Amino acid sequence: MTPKQALAEVRRRFGPTGALSTRREGIKSVGHIDLGLFFSIEGEGPTWEAAFRDIDERKIRRELFDEARDQPCPVCFRTMRTKYDPKLPKEKRYLRYPMWTASHDRYECGRCAAKAKAAVEEKTA
Ligand SMILES: [Zn+2]
Repeated sequence: MTPKQALAEVRRRFGPTGALSTRREGIKSVGHIDLGLFFSIEGEGPTWEAAFRDIDERKIRRELFDEARDQPCPVCFRTMRTKYDPKLPKEKRYLRYPMWTASHDRYECGRCAAKAKAAVEEKTA
C-alpha cells in the first residue's frame, strides 16, 4: 500500500479528518485529527496494511473487554475487576484487572495474563 492509497483509505474510514503519521522507528499510525489539533491514533503497525488491521483488532478487543469485565477469569475463575479498588491490599488492587494475553485472543485476569505472557516470551527467547 502506498502512502497515497493509505491516505485514501484513512479518509474513507474517518472522513476528511483522517490522517497518517510515520514515527522515526518506522511505525505507521492511522487515525484522525480531533478539533484540528490532536492526532487520535486508531491503529498502528510496521506497514499501512498492518495499521489498518490493527484498527479492526482494537475494536474486537474493546468489545471483548466489555464482555470480560466483572466476569470470571477463564483460567482461575476469579472475577475480573475493572475498577481500581483502594480498599484492597496494595498487591491485590490490579491483579484481577482484565489483561490481553500475548498468546490468546482473549482477556484473562492480570495474574494469569502475566503468566501467559512470560511463558510466550520464554519460548521465543
Ligand atoms: Zn486468572
